[in-house]
Formats: sequence, C-alpha cells, structure tokens
Amino acid sequence: MPRNVYGPDHEAFRETAREFVDRSLKPRAEDFIKDKAIGREVWLEAGAQGLLGLEVPEQYGGSEAGDFRLNAVLAEELSKFTAAASSCFGIHTDCVAPYLVDLGTEEQKQRWLPGFCSGELVTAIAMTEPSGGSDLAALRTTAVRDGDDWVLNGSKTFITNGYSADLVVVAARTSPEKRARGITLFGVETGMEGFTRGRKLDKVGQTESDTAELFFDHVRVPDANRIGEVGRGFVHLMERLVGERVGAAASNTAHARQVLEETLTYVKERQAFGQPVGSFQHNKFKLAELVTVMDVTQAFVDQCLLTHARGELSTADAAKAKWWSAQVQNDVIDECVQLYGGYGYMNEYRVARAWRDARVTKIWAGSNEIMKELIGRDLGL
Ligand SMILES: Cc1cc2nc3c(=O)[nH]c(=O)nc-3n(C[C@H](O)[C@H](O)[C@H](O)COP(=O)(O)OP(=O)(O)OC[C@H]3O[C@@H](n4cnc5c(N)ncnc54)[C@H](O)[C@@H]3O)c2cc1C
Repeated sequence: MPRNVYGPDHEAFRETAREFVDRSLKPRAEDFIKDKAIGREVWLEAGAQGLLGLEVPEQYGGSEAGDFRLNAVLAEELSKFTAAASSCFGIHTDCVAPYLVDLGTEEQKQRWLPGFCSGELVTAIAMTEPSGGSDLAALRTTAVRDGDDWVLNGSKTFITNGYSADLVVVAARTSPEKRARGITLFGVETGMEGFTRGRKLDKVGQTESDTAELFFDHVRVPDANRIGEVGRGFVHLMERLVGERVGAAASNTAHARQVLEETLTYVKERQAFGQPVGSFQHNKFKLAELVTVMDVTQAFVDQCLLTHARGELSTADAAKAKWWSAQVQNDVIDECVQLYGGYGYMNEYRVARAWRDARVTKIWAGSNEIMKELIGRDLGL
C-alpha cells in the first residue's frame, strides 16, 4: 500500500541513511555484538553524513530540518538493520536533542551542540532508577544546591548509550517534599568527579547497544549545566515523550515489516512435502493476516507521524502508536520465527535475533501498561 507520509526530500534523505547503513553499519555488525556497543568511529561517520543534527540549528552544526519525518526515516532505515542501532541513535537524535535545543542556554548550546552533531559528543538520558522506572515522579536521585553547584547523589539503571555517553541528561530530585514538581534536569559530563558507570548490562537482545548503570556520589554539577527550570523537570520530560514514543512506533513498525519481508522470501524457497512451506493454506492465511496487520499498523503510525510533524500529536495518540506497534512487532516476529522452523531459533538467523531484540519495546519508553494508563486517563477513566 502506498504511504502518503513522505515526499521526495524524505526519500532522498532515505538514500543517505541507507548508504550509511550499508557502508558504516553492515560491515561492522559482528563487532557491535562482540563489543556490546556501536563504536565511536561510527558515530563520527554518522555525524559526517549529517545524520545527527536533524533537530539542531545550523549555527550549532546541525541541519535544523525541523521535520520529524526525517527522524522517522532514519529510525526506519536503522531498525531495518537492527533495532539496537535505531535505539542508540534515536536516543541521541530524537530524545536528547530537544532538551538541548529547546531548553539549553546559549552557552550550553555553543558548548554541546557542535560535538553533538559531529558525533564527538554522544548523549544519553537517565530517568530510570533501580527502584523503578514507571513511576517517574518517585525517583530518588537527589540534587542539593551548594553555592554555584548542585551536588548529585543516587543511581540510574538501564541507560541506553550509558556506558559511552559523554553527556547524560539526568533527572534528579531537587525538592524532597514534592513529587513531580520536585524534579530538575542536569547535564552530567564524563570526567565529573564522583560520576561512575557500572558494567555494560547483559541483555536478552539488542546486544549491539551499550546499556549501563550510572552512579552519582557527591557529583558537583555546576548550575551552568542545569537544563531547563528548577522543579519543572517532570513537565520537560512529559512534553518530550510524545516525540520519543512516535519515533519508537516508526522504528517498531519498520523492524517488523523488514523481518516479515525476509520471511516471505524464506517461505517461498523452503520446501516441505515437495512444496514451498509458504504455500500450505495455514501458512498462506497466516501470512495474509500478518501483512494485513502490518499495513493497518503502518497507516496509523504514518498518521501519527504526520500529526507530530505538525506539532499536534496528543499524548494519548502517541501512547496508542507506541503500545500497538510494540505488540504487533512482537506478535508478527514471533510468527516469523515459527515460519522459519528450527532455523528460526538459531542466533545465526536474523529472525531469531530480531525476536529477542523486539521484546523490550513493550517495556521501555513507558511500558504497554503505562501507555494504556495514559489512554485510559484520556478517556476520563
Ligand atoms: C534495554 C533497555 C533500555 C532502556 N533505556 C533507557 C534509557 O535510555 N533511559 C531511561 O531512563 N530508561 C531506560 N530504560 C528503562 C525503561 O524505560 C524502564 O525499564 C521502564 O520504564 C519500566 O520501568 P521498570 O523497569 O522499573 O519497571 P517497573 O516500573 O518496576 O514495572 C514493572 C511492571 O509493572 C508494570 N506497572 C508499573 N506500574 C503500573 C501501573 N500503574 N499499572 C499497571 N502496570 C504497571 C510495568 O508495566 C511492568 O510490567 C531502558 C530499559 C531497557 C530494558
């Protein structure tokens, strides 16, 4: 089914993104898995290709495309390669960029954004703590004002790019007596005394991304590194989660579509009882269902992308796109594993890795249950 979300500019950008995937990512796929990280040289290549500064004004080294559909094109092309690549770059380009661009002071923008665009400064965002991620307003990491500094204590976990990031946007509690209204955001940088990281976490899937614990032991963060207003961190986060979630939906959908396409090729070639396994009526009907659900999902996600590009996407619609696409991605890829038979369970087959990679999308960036909470609230329930 033709998609009406993209025009010639987006498709031209898709070619750039594809070239990057073919030239910089595919030849290093095994290294990413072995290193549990996407190497810095790849970030620098992404920067040189103009892929990192889509949200950043030109004066700071970006392209200020200002059209979220370009971010979505990048997410789609990366996730067709691996979900982990889409996640690592997406955290940087889609999630962190708006905090620095919208909320950063002039001095912060000059200090951080050129490196952000070139890939010399990799970023992460740290909300989740060992004590919990869904109830963000209950976070326990504290920041106490001391002269021109804030003193941070606490820890974060499951942080994407956490091991390699040079700059981490950290949500910390600045007013113990207030819940959501007592949270402030800070830019914590590599080298700050008392800021340490644990090992790269050993995940079920998405091995290529570095996911880490972060520890803050009396870290002195200058007030010049505060991002946004004191006590408005929660609001700043909520306002930007819509973008993160619709980006996740674009990525989830592209990932599942790619795996389904490869499965279709496989079932036409693989023989059993003297015929292609895809030609058995059960499998044919199953595949008919899968392509239908993918097309219907894509239509809704595209509508959300168009609406978000106009700056009008609601929290509830972003939540619908995020949970639905995550569920569909998991269901479709699970059926694909079945269609591959035993080979579908072998790590050397992409479908097996994709199945493990997909599982987290129902958990992160707000779990499916939290997405349904948001939708329920929107229904007045
Ligand atoms: C690979 C990976 C990468 C991640 N990257 C980042 C990152 O870069 N930055 C970051 O800050 N975080 C990141 N996260 C954390 C992620 O966002 C959290 O794991 C997620 O928000 C859930 O929080 P939790 O793990 O503490 O689960 P909990 O909050 O403990 O929830 C446990 C279960 O209870 C359910 N639950 C909780 N509250 C409710 C409720 N009110 N109603 C119904 N069910 C509920 C949840 O849906 C879940 O199923 C990442 C996680 C993973 C696994």
